[in-house]
Amino acid sequence: MSSVQVAVVTGANKGIGLAIVRALCRQFPGDVYLTCRDPGRGQAAVAQLQQEGLRPLFHQLDIDDLQSIRALRDFLKDKYGGLNVLVNNAGIAFKVHDTTPFAVQAEVTLKTNFFGTRNVCTELLPLVKPYGRVVNVSSMVSSSALRGCSQELQQKFRSDSITEEELVQLMAKFVEDTKRGVHEKEGWPNTAYGVSKIGVTVLSRIQARLLNEQRKGDHVLLNACCPGWVRTDMAGPKATKSPDEGAETPVYLALLPSSADAPHGQFVSDKTVKPW
Ligand code: NAP
Repeated sequence: MSSVQVAVVTGANKGIGLAIVRALCRQFPGDVYLTCRDPGRGQAAVAQLQQEGLRPLFHQLDIDDLQSIRALRDFLKDKYGGLNVLVNNAGIAFKVHDTTPFAVQAEVTLKTNFFGTRNVCTELLPLVKPYGRVVNVSSMVSSSALRGCSQELQQKFRSDSITEEELVQLMAKFVEDTKRGVHEKEGWPNTAYGVSKIGVTVLSRIQARLLNEQRKGDHVLLNACCPGWVRTDMAGPKATKSPDEGAETPVYLALLPSSADAPHGQFVSDKTVKPW
């Protein structure tokens, strides 16, 4: 088993994920895995970084596919005995003018952004080694969507005692409410992406709390973040940041020094903790 440190980035064949891998290849003292769902797109991205003189490694990972997640888990366990850095970056967003029915958008968006990310965490967090760093890429849209929720929902999502099971039930309820056409009546905002990212931010707060309760001595730091508005296929060419600039906050959180005990369980944007 290798004693080399290892970092894993999800959804890294393009956009912010690729830029995070680029930065980690330069700054992380160990193996860096560019993971993505399509091996062809992954190998092309690896080749691009190799042309820049970098040496990322590749592993397939479709966060919608539990078998794929478990194959990566077993690989990391066997080869490295765990992992040191996990960046949950993979995500999707329907375009604003997409005519797909809202209930379908809700189901598809929540499936990847919330349930897929949660499945990766469920399988990989137990493998994270002492002083490990976990970064869940959320969005400022999670904050604005939170403000668009009913007072009752806001209270639940801000609660310091909400459980993962309760959060999962709420995310599933959102999808069901959209199917029944009652999501606004039930206090939800009109954004599937926003609700999925509320899920990612709240999940991060819960996971950080559980780390405090169960593994305090391991000094693992876990945070959610917003990369900013970044020029990628998701956000389009008018966004203000380049992908490398968008990678800065996630990479800062991924490389928090072993002497750091904060931030932890926070929502971070521009390397600054934001109120939730
Ligand atoms: P992007 O260019 O569209 O890249 C998204 C990445 O996620 C792609 O590599 C995509 O793979 C991957 N992905 C989607 N579904 C996946 C799955 N089931 N399994 C594995 N990978 C999957 O978007 P981006 O702008 O770089 O976004 C990266 C993250 O930042 C997302 O979580 C996004 O919500 C967040 N974010 C972006 C912005 C922004 O302004 N761009 C702002 C706030 C937050 P394929 O190529 O195979 O589709």
